[in-house]
Amino acid sequence: MSVADEFTALYGYAPQGVWAAPGRVNLIGEYTDFNEGFVMPLALPHTAVAAVARRDDGLLRLHSADVEGPVVELAADALRPLSDSGGWAAYPAGVVWALRAAGHPVGGADLHLSSTVPTGAGLSSSAALEVVTALALNELYELGLTKRELALLAQRAENAFVGVPCGVMDQMASAACEAGRVLHLDCRDLGVRQVPFDLAAHGLRLLVVDTRVRHELGDGAYAERRAGCEAGARALGVTHLRDVLYAELPDALRQLDDERVRRYVRHVVSDDHRVARVVALLDAGDVRGIGPVLTEGHASLRDDLRISCPELNLAVAAAERAGALGARMTGGGFGGSAVALVEAADADTVTKAVTEAFAAAGFTPPRVFEAEPSRGARRVA
Ligand code: ADP
Ligand code: MG
Repeated sequence: MSVADEFTALYGYAPQGVWAAPGRVNLIGEYTDFNEGFVMPLALPHTAVAAVARRDDGLLRLHSADVEGPVVELAADALRPLSDSGGWAAYPAGVVWALRAAGHPVGGADLHLSSTVPTGAGLSSSAALEVVTALALNELYELGLTKRELALLAQRAENAFVGVPCGVMDQMASAACEAGRVLHLDCRDLGVRQVPFDLAAHGLRLLVVDTRVRHELGDGAYAERRAGCEAGARALGVTHLRDVLYAELPDALRQLDDERVRRYVRHVVSDDHRVARVVALLDAGDVRGIGPVLTEGHASLRDDLRISCPELNLAVAAAERAGALGARMTGGGFGGSAVALVEAADADTVTKAVTEAFAAAGFTPPRVFEAEPSRGARRVA
């Protein structure tokens, strides 16, 4: 049954439209977002799909095909940040709250959704959920907001309403990515450029390895890295590490006497530089050339930022042993997913090698799939 048909069966009338928003995977540029640096996400083929209708009585009814439980009913004008709005329902409810808090005339809605984005795998199932809600309400309430404005409101929903301190990369990627492209996002001014990344045309594939190890970003490690970066910026007399040029890095490191802060600064400044190198290579049509840059990025996350884990390190090492051009962990770390760039002809060999390596190590079997650079949020019916 389609999501629209499920909506009809659930609420007893047909939805006004159906919208889809993808999950994302970050190609390179990790923990650079809050340093006002650069990231490079691409949209996954996996999407959250929502059938929605506007309600002018202020009632918000939310249902997910993927979660056991009844329809969550909330009053749009009674939404309060960080109040328990019914678990998962806090994401779409947070979007309604953020839109209203920004002064947009949004009332109620009926929403039913179903998502193919793996949850908790660092692939932004939460942003897909927020962005699909924001896009639907933008149309149904004729708000005329741009994708960038919708992404910022979705981020605000997650930060202030749900209570997760994420940057804006996930929502921007879900809202604004294009098929066959990777999004070069400047996290200082949210300037974007769609960089060609047509893997199929180059005979390449990007594999995602979901380790099935679930990260808990809230557990302090993220906050600790963030505080360390802020301390580094202060010690170097800049507002954000983005302002330390790569050419100045050796000098900057000499000025830092805290070994831990030095490692964090080296990661952030070098990862911003790796983003620039990847952009230059892709612009020059040298897609294979980015492989070694991805691998360097992994070493930096493992050894300097220290946010990797045995499963991620094994995914990267096994992919490379089996012929991957490059691989790295992606996302917040301590679990979640890795990406591997492979020749199309090697995709099955690499998948098998990673799966076997996990079995030999006694790890939970990973989920390996292809991430074809896909389009961002859109209306589908
Ligand atoms: P990630 O964004 O990396 O997948 P998060 O912890 O940020 O992980 O978001 C996952 C949460 O998003 C889930 O715990 C759930 O509350 C919500 N969510 C994601 N997909 C769905 C879905 N299909 N139905 C209901 N809730 C969902
Ligand atoms: Mg998330």
